[in-house]
Order: sequence, then structure tokens, then C-alpha cells
Amino acid sequence: MTSTANEHLNDWLRDAHAMEQQAETMLESMASRLEHYPALRTRIVEHIEETRWQRGQLDGCLERRGESPSMVKDMTGKIVAFGQGVGGMFASDEVVKGAMAGYVFENMEVASYTVLIAAAQAAGDQATEDVCRHIIAQEQAMAAWMLEHLPSIASAFLVRSATPGAEAKV
Ligand code: MG
Ligand code: FE
Repeated sequence: MTSTANEHLNDWLRDAHAMEQQAETMLESMASRLEHYPALRTRIVEHIEETRWQRGQLDGCLERRGESPSMVKDMTGKIVAFGQGVGGMFASDEVVKGAMAGYVFENMEVASYTVLIAAAQAAGDQATEDVCRHIIAQEQAMAAWMLEHLPSIASAFLVRSATPGAEAKV
């Protein structure tokens, strides 16, 4: 059985749509729980806006191509993200684990859009390529921010954990 670049591009666009759905759920759960790390919270809230915009752009790409997002994949993504949110709640170093997971997730997004750009080129879909290039820049910026701020998040966490009466985990 053979598949064309156009078919793979459609599949991968649906995967990306589900990934953004999952990203939004994860980021929202983190933002709503964070209390003592205002810079991280502000950046996450900003990226939630970008993430919603990205999902809208992917909707547009799928629509132009005569396709629709996969509801099954979107639901799976939501359930996985919910599980991750709940799992993280019991960790005493939640903010540090969350920031690490966030960095990893952003890099997975960078990998996904890298593949989508190549697929869009192979399929000759310039509009989709342009959208993916715009989105990948936002993901790279978020990944860079997370890496740059991991040391200060970790040290702020360590200071709070060593302070009697201070809540450190979020
Ligand atoms: Mg994203
Ligand atoms: Fe992202």
C-alpha cells in the first residue's frame, strides 16, 4: 500500500491539531496551579494564547485541504494531558518537573513542525508551509525561554523549599 505526500501531510496536520489541544490543556492546568512563580505563569499564559491561535491556523490548513481535525485524536490528547496534570500534582517539586516537561513538550512541537514543513514542501502546499514556519518560530521561542529560565526556576524552588512556612511546589 502506498501513500502520497498529501495523505501524510493531512495525517500529520491532524496529529499537530491534537498535540495543540493537549498543549492547551497542559498549559492551562499549570497556569491555574502556579502561585509563587509569576514570571513562569505570565509566559505560560502568553503561550496559551499562541497555542489557541496555532490550533485555529491548523484548522484553517485542514479546511483548505478539504479535511477536518480528528476528534478521536483530540480527545486522546485531552485525556493524556489530564493524566499528566493529575500526576504532577502529587510531586513535591511540581514546578521543576512541570518546567522540565514543558521544555520537552515544546521541543516535540519543534520536531513536529519541522516534519510538517518538509511535508508541505513535498506536497507543494505553500500556505500550509507558511503557517508551519510561523508556528515553529513561536515554539522555538517558548523552548528557548524555558531552557533559559530553568536555572532560576530551580533556584527559586530550592530557596522556597528551605524556607520554613513557604510553599515551594507551585
Ligand atoms: Mg504549540
Ligand atoms: Fe508550544
